[in-house]
Amino acid sequence: MKSNIKLGTIHGIEIGLHYSWFIIAALIAFSLGEHFRQVNPNWSTNQIWTIALLTAVLFFVSLLLHELSHSLVAQTRGLKVKSITLFALGGVSQIEGDATDAKTEFWVAIAGPIASLVIGFGCLALAAGLGWRRPAEPRTGVTAVLVWLGYINVALAVFNMIPGFPLDGGRVLRSIVWAITKNADRSTRIAARIGQFVAFLFILDGIWQFFSGAGFGGLWIAFIGWFLMDAAKASYAQVEITAAFQGMRVSSLMSRDCITVNRGMSLQEFVDTYLLKTGQRCYAVEDQSLLVGLITPRDVGAIPRELWDKTTVRDAMRPLAKLHIITPDTQVLDALKLMAANDVNQLPVVANGTLQGVVSRSQLMQLLQARSELHLPTTQYPPITAHG
Ligand SMILES: [Zn+2]
Repeated sequence: MKSNIKLGTIHGIEIGLHYSWFIIAALIAFSLGEHFRQVNPNWSTNQIWTIALLTAVLFFVSLLLHELSHSLVAQTRGLKVKSITLFALGGVSQIEGDATDAKTEFWVAIAGPIASLVIGFGCLALAAGLGWRRPAEPRTGVTAVLVWLGYINVALAVFNMIPGFPLDGGRVLRSIVWAITKNADRSTRIAARIGQFVAFLFILDGIWQFFSGAGFGGLWIAFIGWFLMDAAKASYAQVEITAAFQGMRVSSLMSRDCITVNRGMSLQEFVDTYLLKTGQRCYAVEDQSLLVGLITPRDVGAIPRELWDKTTVRDAMRPLAKLHIITPDTQVLDALKLMAANDVNQLPVVANGTLQGVVSRSQLMQLLQARSELHLPTTQYPPITAHG
């Protein structure tokens, strides 16, 4: 997740906000205002909103401290941390590269919940020191803030320790399975499966509560479950992809039957003789047998139809300088990352200035599908080599 608003840097880590954070910040401030109004009817409206806003900001700080603990522990264990982004459901630390051993995974994962627990109990202890006694409602503004922050941080720690990957608890579980089985991939698969099961329970519980009259609260639980389900599925797929393409180079699976077209051709001619007849998605544009660009149906569609006669392929293509090029030696996993990072569906494979082939996302996904239909255990069979 990319942050939309950058707040600054701590210890080399970029701190940012995603737009969705504002929705949740407003919701929290609003429900806090309601909460304080009910609990302390003698407070003025001004007082209530000032305290609600202050509490929302402090909640944001405690979330940040949770993420920072993950990140700082990761840094001391030799992992690079790029950024922390706060969004509607909490925070994400973007840690480059995965933990290479179970111990690192364990400490990085558990650091966040420990921080939340310490903050939570710290706030409650402070409130108690200021005269607040359970179960009475706090009477002063300061204790009201401390008590709310205390409970929410303890809740945050407990929620994050739910053993559903990719929640912190799921990562802790994964590291333990990893330490026992000594197999990182298998531990992710197991943790992701448990994560899907936990997410399913959340959705069921949310729907149940919704129909028992909990309304919005029930829907919220179901929504968190849906989010967890999605994340667990993505983690599982990531392991499958990594296992399937580990060590493979682009040259072994790129499609070589790439059609080349002349750059001087009009778009109308290109559409009539190639696009509508071959059904190919991607064409190489050449000039004296050197690759100068690529043209896809998307590029043609960007030009108004009445101009197709007067526009040449060269005018509509994406020139070489604007393309992300890979070589036949590029690792398939790196190619996939490049496609995801730049939001493109195919990459031209170039060597010595000439096009060798094209690798496309859909082609890789078809390979993956074929593998799963054959039920090949990904680690024991040699990788599929030739294609197209
Ligand atoms: Zn965490």
